[in-house]
Amino acid sequence: MTRDLRIHNNLTRKKETFSPIDPGKVRFYSCGPTTYDFLHIGNARALVVGDLFNRVLRSFGFEVTFVRNYTDVDDKIIDRAKELGRDAIEHAAIFVKECETDMDSLGMLPATHTPKVSETMPEIIAMIQDIIANRKAYVVAGEVFFSVPSFPSYGRLSKKDIDSLQHGIRVEVDGRKQHPSDFVLWKPAKPGEPAWDSPWGKGRPGWHIECSAMAKKFLGKTLDLHHGGIDLMFPHHENEIAQSEAANDCPFCHNWAHNEFLNFGTEKMSKSLGNVIKIRDFVTKYGGQVLRHILLSVHYRARLEWTDEVLNRALDEVKRIHDFVLELNRMEAKGSYYGEEISSCREKMQEELANDFNSAGAMGHFFSFLRSVKAHRDELSSEALAEAHRVIRFVEDSLGLVALNPSKVLDELKRHEQDTSSTGVDSEWIERLIAERRVAKETKNWARADEIRKEIASKNVVLKDNPDGSTSWSVSS
Ligand SMILES: [Zn+2]
Repeated sequence: MTRDLRIHNNLTRKKETFSPIDPGKVRFYSCGPTTYDFLHIGNARALVVGDLFNRVLRSFGFEVTFVRNYTDVDDKIIDRAKELGRDAIEHAAIFVKECETDMDSLGMLPATHTPKVSETMPEIIAMIQDIIANRKAYVVAGEVFFSVPSFPSYGRLSKKDIDSLQHGIRVEVDGRKQHPSDFVLWKPAKPGEPAWDSPWGKGRPGWHIECSAMAKKFLGKTLDLHHGGIDLMFPHHENEIAQSEAANDCPFCHNWAHNEFLNFGTEKMSKSLGNVIKIRDFVTKYGGQVLRHILLSVHYRARLEWTDEVLNRALDEVKRIHDFVLELNRMEAKGSYYGEEISSCREKMQEELANDFNSAGAMGHFFSFLRSVKAHRDELSSEALAEAHRVIRFVEDSLGLVALNPSKVLDELKRHEQDTSSTGVDSEWIERLIAERRVAKETKNWARADEIRKEIASKNVVLKDNPDGSTSWSVSS
């Protein structure tokens, strides 16, 4: 594959030809989730876009080292664990597992490395020491701050300058900072919080330093591509650049790519608006392939407006794709037809993906191909059939939009149809919710456990918790 890949680089705000430091090899980092609760479909967008980049880079022949972290030490985790009266690291570990289950259901390829903060402490501490040694951080009573004015190019990714930032920052009562924009690299732990020994006393890292340290540990000092949600550009990614360059004295990353938000109509998805859909709940209802399909049906840099129409279209398209794959397996060459929509489909999809990972454009070509093969099913040449199978494999590899087991996807869709068309009870759905309720109870998330009981009760199903810890259910008459 010799085609040039062009990526919109947020450092320059331009589409540029992608040329990694070592030709043929890509050092790719994507900011991963904070594991304090089940992930929602907004988190899924960032995860699936990271997976898209990884797959497309591979399909273009690059050898990719892909690092996606888990933030398992964080205020949100500590607060949630405190509420539940459990150990913070243990609580985070439960949700790392749950995240992995969600990622599998979304058909994501495994990353090369998935480091956790709790396992990267020596590297984090060493990096903070390097930044201090380079006089770009300072220590105040067990706390380490990055000195933003000591790093003159601060703001070059988000296009903010420190002076204008200062006006925007609310007056802080924090007299320890030398400048209002300075941020924490290490902070002392409060009693009962997870803490690690450091040259500055027992404590834990600030949020931003973990990605700088993990990237260096697995990818070296300079990366080819860094990705995250657009909300991470400032301050998180700006701070990653400052930390890494202050410690390593060389450029941190050449290409920065950010995916846009997922909105409900015109509203952002947020807990306070009550419009948060968990990946688990969505997948239970429709299957993971439908969610993946929706997330890739819009270019990653465009807002994704989530509507019923978007959902219904995806349900229809996922069914069409997987019906087609089953049908294709039974098709035989019966003629001499080998039309352009079939012969040039892969080429056209590659062209779209080479143009800043345009998954939506690639899907458009795929559907014309699909229509053409179906329309000419009784007159296809053997070359056309062989190419059709190659197209399916390409879509499977580079987009993950064809599941390895099409029948399973169709069964999931059928179950959803039955569920909505009759008052019958979907036993698999109930079993999955019972499993989620068990996790909720284990993590002492009583509110969620109760919510699930109510959700199940709304289908006239009664749960019974047995003394051995199992739960049985029955339909009330
Ligand atoms: Zn990060």
